[in-house]
Amino acid sequence: MSAVSLGWASVTRARRQDQRDAAQRRIREAGLRATPARVAVLALVTSEPAPASHGEVADKLARGGWDRTTIYRNLMDLTRAGLLRRSDIGDHVWRFEAIADGEGEHEHPHFVCSECGSVACLPKAELSFRRTRGTPRAVRRRDVAIQLRGRCDVCL
Ligand SMILES: [Zn+2]
Ligand SMILES: [Zn+2]
Repeated sequence: MSAVSLGWASVTRARRQDQRDAAQRRIREAGLRATPARVAVLALVTSEPAPASHGEVADKLARGGWDRTTIYRNLMDLTRAGLLRRSDIGDHVWRFEAIADGEGEHEHPHFVCSECGSVACLPKAELSFRRTRGTPRAVRRRDVAIQLRGRCDVCL
């Protein structure tokens, strides 16, 4: 039993190291210094399945000894460098998600649970619409956030 859990622990450790290496490379390619806190922030946000708020990221990295201000500063640095995207899903909380290598500038749609507020990414979703009179220019330029609301699998 202990052998099994040891095996799992080392697999997880190896994956975390891979994620940190990838984060370090992307930070350097973006022209920033790959400080330990910055690498930890990018690796964590990249491994999250859904956009995470500053509070969530700070809680998860608290064990590393970084304070919330450092985490926040690095989230903003990574956003400005084009490695993270910051979005507000309508509750006035900024959430951060990694922009994948080769992903376009356009934001993908998100699903937001109307009961519990959980957020899911819909990276493959595509919406098409016909331009009609009165369609705002931002829509034509795709300079908009697309959000679907409903109940998540847990709240259904
Ligand atoms: Zn829900
Ligand atoms: Zn997303």
